[in-house]
Amino acid sequence: MDLILKKTLIGFMLESRNDDSFIKKINRLYNTAGVEVLLTVFRLLAGIDIPPEKCSLHWERTQMHRQKLSDLLGRNVDIATALCDYLQSATNFLSHPRLIEAREYENVIHETINDKLTGLFNRPYFDEAFNQQVALAKRYKEDFTLLFLDIDNFKDINDTFGHLAGDAALREIAAVILKEKRDSDIAARFGGEEFVLLMTHTDNVNALSFAERLRKQVEMLEISYRDQIFRLTISGGIASFPFNSEDPKQLLQMADSAVYLAKGAGKNTICLFKEEKRRYLRIKIQQPVLAKELDFNNSATFTGTSKDICVGGILFENNCPLPIGALIKVQVPVNDGTPVMLIGTVVRVEAFDNGKYDIGMTTSFKEMDKIANHEIAGILRSGNMA
Ligand code: GH3
Ligand code: MG
Ligand code: MG
Repeated sequence: MDLILKKTLIGFMLESRNDDSFIKKINRLYNTAGVEVLLTVFRLLAGIDIPPEKCSLHWERTQMHRQKLSDLLGRNVDIATALCDYLQSATNFLSHPRLIEAREYENVIHETINDKLTGLFNRPYFDEAFNQQVALAKRYKEDFTLLFLDIDNFKDINDTFGHLAGDAALREIAAVILKEKRDSDIAARFGGEEFVLLMTHTDNVNALSFAERLRKQVEMLEISYRDQIFRLTISGGIASFPFNSEDPKQLLQMADSAVYLAKGAGKNTICLFKEEKRRYLRIKIQQPVLAKELDFNNSATFTGTSKDICVGGILFENNCPLPIGALIKVQVPVNDGTPVMLIGTVVRVEAFDNGKYDIGMTTSFKEMDKIANHEIAGILRSGNMA
């Protein structure tokens, strides 16, 4: 059977809202491409070969039979059911069950939407699912995040270990993504050595902690091909809906440009999309700050020095790194010495030759709210209201 035609028809089936629009599309294609279309429809839906000269007649009758069945049952009968019922009751074409055909049908669907090498979704499927997600997120006012991943120095891997080893690496990285992602996330191979993960109900900060975990797992992965063992790293870029943009094309470009930032920062790095122009006024202040991880198992307090501060967060120098994604509390003394308390998530950690680290924290108003409520609740409980 003509595979392209088969894939086109399955594409029709997947994109059609209902069987009426699916049938319309078949009829339109039949008018331009001829009887081969109907031959493929019969093979696909019922697993049988009908003589070409009879195709048009049986297709006409199948559509009439579907109408009759729908009227009789008072609901819309799907075209595959109508076709099989017609073939069984009005012809002697259908003599054995369609079990094998159902499997073949599933195989073709799998081939149509999945990437052969990695088993992840392919680019056409991703594009469609992505547009659908944008529409859903707009409608239900939800957020989601795109994570773009690109293997670092993949050309060198191919050159050193061979293309088949490169393919094995692609498969193994895909397996890590599949293992780590949530069921509702959509993972696809976007291009050669590029992957994209659409994380539903996820904002950029949570996506960053996830991406960091993934990056570390890939870094630890030992890829073996034949008698060779090697390692590799990935870089990633993050853009979120609706935080960065509500436009699907722009979101993809933003996630992609964040990958470039990550490559520029030395690879094996994940970056959030950052606009060139600052959204907030940044004030450069050098003040001693106190930072503390909001983690029951770690009560250590760090003394650092602020570099700059803005409504969105703070950048400070610290003597040791803090985990990306960690929730921290930072106290910064302002003009009259009263400390201001900021709560947020570590989104950037950069090591310097002098042994110091730059820590970037974005403030989380949600967390500040939660903690404020918690404290108010504590005051109410103790009856200590001044
Ligand atoms: P960078 O760190 O800047 O991303 O460097 P890179 O070498 O990964 O970048 P580049 O995009 O130039 O190279 C990508 C390479 O991926 C080139 C191409 O041969 C290889 N590639 C693409 N698809 C496949 C595939 O299916 N299998 C294998 N083995 N290699 C592939
Ligand atoms: Mg690339
Ligand atoms: Mg690359």
